[in-house]
Order: sequence, then C-alpha cells, then structure tokens
Amino acid sequence: MNAYDVIIAGLGTVGSATAMELARRGHSVIGLDAFRPPHNRGSHHGQSRSIRRAYLEGTGYVPMALRAWELWRRLERDTGTSLLVSTGNLTIGLPDGPALKGFLGSARTGNIPHHALTAAEVRKRWPQLAPSDALAAGLEVEAGLLFPELSITTLLNESERAGAVLRFDERVEHWSKHGDRIRVHTTRETLEGGSLLLAAGARNKSLLGILGDRLSPKRVPVHWVAPPSEKAFELGNFPVNFWQLPAFEIESNTQYAELYSLPVIGSGGCVKVAAHNNLSDCDPEAPVRFVTPEEVADIRSFLGNFIPTLANCTIDSDVCLYTQTPDGEFLLGALPGYDNVFTAALAGHGFKFAPVLGEVLADLIAGTEPAFDVSRFSPARTV
Ligand SMILES: Cc1cc2nc3c(=O)[nH]c(=O)nc-3n(C[C@H](O)[C@H](O)[C@H](O)COP(=O)(O)OP(=O)(O)OC[C@H]3O[C@@H](n4cnc5c(N)ncnc54)[C@H](O)[C@@H]3O)c2cc1C
Repeated sequence: MNAYDVIIAGLGTVGSATAMELARRGHSVIGLDAFRPPHNRGSHHGQSRSIRRAYLEGTGYVPMALRAWELWRRLERDTGTSLLVSTGNLTIGLPDGPALKGFLGSARTGNIPHHALTAAEVRKRWPQLAPSDALAAGLEVEAGLLFPELSITTLLNESERAGAVLRFDERVEHWSKHGDRIRVHTTRETLEGGSLLLAAGARNKSLLGILGDRLSPKRVPVHWVAPPSEKAFELGNFPVNFWQLPAFEIESNTQYAELYSLPVIGSGGCVKVAAHNNLSDCDPEAPVRFVTPEEVADIRSFLGNFIPTLANCTIDSDVCLYTQTPDGEFLLGALPGYDNVFTAALAGHGFKFAPVLGEVLADLIAGTEPAFDVSRFSPARTV
C-alpha cells in the first residue's frame, strides 16, 4: 500500500491550492480527482471569478482577502502567468442594506481604496447600468477578476513541480481510520496517509459522513449574454456588479434578491449573469443541466430593469454548483472527532481565497497555528 503524508480528495480550487502549498513545504502529497481539472462538473468553471477585498460578507474575511490578493500576485510572478485583472467592483443595494453596510465596513477596516456613489453617479459613469434612485453603490477600485481554469492549471502545474503526485479520473469512494493513519479507497486502489483533506466541492456531501448533512449542493444557472456592442461591457469599461435588491425592486422568495454580472473577456465574449441566492438544491452527482425558459425569463426581467441594453440579447445558459452551508460561512478545518481529517466547503464565494486557504489548510494539517483566526469556520461550530 502506498503511503503519503497527506492525501487530497479533489484537485479543484481548494485541493490544487493546498497540494501546491504542502508540496512546496516538503510534505509528500498525493492528490486524486474524479475528473481532470479544470472541468465543468464542479464549481470552478466559467472563465471568470470575482476577486474583491472589501468583503461585504463580513470584516472577518478581510485579512484573508488581503493575503489572497498578495498570493495570487505572487503566483503570477512565480509562473509568468496573468491570473488577476482589475476592472473595479460595484456593490449595489439599499444605502442601509446589509450588502452596502458590509462593503463599507470592510473597505474602511482594510483601508481598501473605494468610493461611495449615488445611483445617479453610477448611471452617469456606467450608462450600461440603471440602478433606481432608491439604491446606492460602493466601488472597490482595484477589484477585478480571476481566470479560474488557468488558475487551477497553474496551481496543479506548480504542485507537480514541487513534487506532489497528482492522479486524475480516479475517484475517492470512501475512507477509514486505522490507528492514527487514514486509508483512502479509490476506484483503483487503497492508499494510506497521515492526513486526509476532503476537497471534493459539492461532492464532499457524501464523503463527510454525518457532517455532510450540513452541506446543501445548489444548482446555479449561469447565463451568457451576447452584448450588442462588446466595447461597453469589456474588462476595464465594465465593473463587476453585484446587486442586492429589495422586494420592491424585484420579485424574490427572500428579503433580498442577489444577482451579478461580470464583464466580457476576450473578443466575441459574453457578459456573464447569474443569481447568487434563491437557488435550488441538487444532487451533485447528477445536477439538472437543463436551464428552464422561466429561469431565462427571470434573468431577462433583471436585465430589463437594471442593465437594459442586454434585455433582448441572445442568452446561452450553463450550470455550476455551490456547496452551501447553513449560515453561508465557509466550513474549514478538522472534522469533529478527528485530528487528521480536514475539509473545506466554500459556500459559493471561495474561489478568490484559494491560495490563502491552501496556506491555512497546510498549517492546520501540519498542526501549526494559521496566521488567521479561522475558528468561526470550524466544522464543529453549531449553526
Ligand atoms: C457560477 C459560480 C460563480 C462563482 N463566482 C465566484 C466568484 O465570483 N468569486 C469567488 O470567489 N467564488 C465564486 N464562486 C465560488 C467558487 O467558485 C467555489 O467556492 C470554489 O470553486 C469551490 O472550490 P472547491 O475546491 O470546493 O470545489 P471544486 O473547484 O469544484 O473542486 C472539487 C473537485 O473535487 C473533485 N471530486 C469530486 N468528488 C470527488 C471524489 N469522490 N474523488 C475525487 N475527486 C472528487 C471534482 O472533480 C472537483 O475537481 C462561484 C461559483 C459558481 C458555481
């Protein structure tokens, strides 16, 4: 039986970043993936991921967001690859709503360059966007996009370069504890490791035992809208825009509907538009990939009101997965009752943090204190 310091189940966002970090620190690592990342069967496909540091989800994320930015830039320098581009990021919502309050609190805490804007100022600067006068916005000036497929390829290449063994098209079926060692049973063989990281994204649900009940895989329809003219929607001309809309602005099952759009990348590209909440549960092994006419109609209605030049454009749709947690916070750390089995579930907003999560998980796996307080993400927390 082959033995390693650490076995990683899943080589997507978190798995690839942690494999790189552990291998660079000299640990013997094997990573296994059911497919061959990057691919479109998990949570990391679709050309772009927003990266921002004025974190509307809470000031607690800001130190990690700052470090993640630094580490993406370092990875770019290490590999001569462009992974992160700035285009600005607008958070749009009620002036006293949770999104804008969270944005401004984090921007001030982290001393992150930003501006508070009225709806009229947004419409003047970006005539593509049409927030009503009831709304306001926060602009994070330097925020932008990551290229997820290239990022994962880069992280995997660096992992291998640092000595990690990577195996693809090999699924982890289950695992068991033997004394202080962990055995991992794959579709090909049984491996033994000192520690195990379960980084299988939405499919962690079936690998986490009882803790898996806390994860809700969500189906995320993603819409690609062909703009009438690319120029106004290109990187640099069009910011990432996240909308937290109250019921009087849009029909919603929740107090606020959250939607966003991301700029066109490259020539012939499309604007990417999706909802961030009110998503349906799915079986991560077989999510329904068909996007219904009603789902497309909902997006057209959002566009008609808030990005009107896109309302009647051609739309192609696709499906991606979130691994939602009950409180929307990450689940990160050792499984309750185990000191050498770890997991990460990123609740639909984790891509930007990949390299810092690699550092944090490498610390936790090595038994050292991470540089950030991640106790609020503990899988043992009661939610
Ligand atoms: C539409 C969409 C938009 C998003 N936008 C943003 C954004 O703008 N900014 C942001 O920061 N985040 C964003 N996110 C969230 C972010 O992409 C995810 O949080 C992140 O990619 C999750 O990483 P992961 O490693 O958990 O999962 P993945 O990257 O999916 O990796 C899991 C890997 O595990 C493998 N696997 C599964 N089962 C097994 C098994 N049994 N054995 C071995 N391998 C297995 C899979 O093949 C996969 O490669 C978005 C997500 C979606 C869906």
